[in-house]
Amino acid sequence: MTEDPRDSRAAMLRGLVNRCPSCGDGRVFAGYLSVVDHCPDCREPLGAYPAADGPAFFTITIVMLLLIPMIGYGWVLFRSDPLTLLIALAVLTTLITLVLLRLVKGAFVGYLWAHHERDRGA
Ligand SMILES: [Zn+2]
Repeated sequence: MTEDPRDSRAAMLRGLVNRCPSCGDGRVFAGYLSVVDHCPDCREPLGAYPAADGPAFFTITIVMLLLIPMIGYGWVLFRSDPLTLLIALAVLTTLITLVLLRLVKGAFVGYLWAHHERDRGA
């Protein structure tokens, strides 16, 4: 079975900004992280592309890579109390994670769509 080739870069960029990877108009998310069953504009079955734990894994990796320099710069530049630095970084890390998770999940759904990685019920 041959499937039509899809531009994964464009699909990931569309998913990143909460747009349907197929048409670029409809929304990917119904809420914060719930993927719509079908694109409201082109009826593409976006709910058939299960992102599972992939977006969480990539988000954790990105946040951990950002956290290390934030600890270093926060310590060197502000010379703050360690408890204050800990609390500030905990809040900042939580906010960054919540923002990145949605962006990464949208891009992930776009990637899965571009590579025809549908849920096969396995
Ligand atoms: Zn669409």
